[in-house]
Amino acid sequence: MTLSQGRPYLAIPGPSVIPDPVLQAMHRPAPNIYEGALPDMVPGLITDLCRVAQTNGHAAIYIGNGHAMWEAALANTVAAGEKVLVLATGRFGHGWADVAEARGITTDILDHETFHTIDPDRLRAALRADAGQKIRAVLAVHTDTSTSVRSDIAVLRQVLNEEGHPALLMVDCIASLGCDEFRMDDWGVDVMITGSQKGLMVPPGLGFVYFNATARAQRTGLSQVSRYWDWDRRVEPEIFYHYFNGTAPTHHLHGLRVALDMIHDEGMEAVWARHATLAQALWAAVSHWGSAGPMHMCVADPSLRSHAVSTLKIGAPHGTALRRWCETQAGVTLGIPLGMSETDDPNGDGFFRFGHMGHVNAHMILGLLGTVEAGLGALDIPHAPGGVAAASQVIAEATRNT
Ligand SMILES: *Cc1c(COP(=O)(O)O)cnc(C)c1O
Repeated sequence: MTLSQGRPYLAIPGPSVIPDPVLQAMHRPAPNIYEGALPDMVPGLITDLCRVAQTNGHAAIYIGNGHAMWEAALANTVAAGEKVLVLATGRFGHGWADVAEARGITTDILDHETFHTIDPDRLRAALRADAGQKIRAVLAVHTDTSTSVRSDIAVLRQVLNEEGHPALLMVDCIASLGCDEFRMDDWGVDVMITGSQKGLMVPPGLGFVYFNATARAQRTGLSQVSRYWDWDRRVEPEIFYHYFNGTAPTHHLHGLRVALDMIHDEGMEAVWARHATLAQALWAAVSHWGSAGPMHMCVADPSLRSHAVSTLKIGAPHGTALRRWCETQAGVTLGIPLGMSETDDPNGDGFFRFGHMGHVNAHMILGLLGTVEAGLGALDIPHAPGGVAAASQVIAEATRNT
């Protein structure tokens, strides 16, 4: 027997659940790309994308995934032979560093201990050691999706300013934008990148590079910028196709229009609060189960945890077994671990991740947790029963008298 028939639920940290109205908006014949509704729609999309990031700066749209945005951000700011400093808190920081190295950029990595947030003092020491201020950009990942560590971004700007260092502050918000609070201008971020398939609730395929005047000035100083990645023409197009340097991603743009409407109808503060409350409910369940068993959140301090993705340790082989049970018996797909292998657990079978980003509400999270609790029981994995009740209580308290 299997109990999995019914609407499947992809609870992995991207791609995230696509709202039905977004899917419906994409289900249409090919539109005219030269005039009419589609070209008319794009300036408004950019305005609304900027509202999600709380910026009055620019947003360039690309056809590409997150890896492409790592490339795009660097192509406009740092030349081969120049230097960047990467503050890595997991796999994705190293991924961005790898892209920089492949571009011929000298890449210094401050690797943080697994499950620890960015240490501003290490940034300060690195900036002080940078004689001649050769570092052109500091690269940070807001939420590293492999570890689910979320770092304080505003403090990085503070350190750069206190040290009088001119390096750009560039942030990967692919896993956090539209989930966790992010204020590009207030926090002094010069370049921010994101993708369509996580908090923005649109299928993979669109990427976004946001930038301010400081970053643009650095772009102007480069002797060469590749035509495709160049953000200048994308934000000041003379003709419509300059926005995308070619054919527009027609259907994705229609999906994005609806997704942005959903986000702004709810309101940014409300979107952040929803993700925070649902994350707290999830943590309450995990903490309850773990009081009599091996499951626990990998990031110990709740203030350093993402509200969009959670990495859990449960010990091999339980992580993989639980994922398999949830998918085959209940129609819920949990996230695989990334970069978690240990010598006694070479395949990372003791870890898994929950994605809780974008189009998620209370009943989905309670259903997810109820499924996991059933799986813990079915697989005889030690745990304290009652995690779902603990999560329900968080949700009840958060919504009392509202
Ligand atoms: C998903 C993700 C990426 C990579 O995005 P792709 O679309 O898979 O290339 C990069 N950084 C972070 C923080 C992510 O969550």
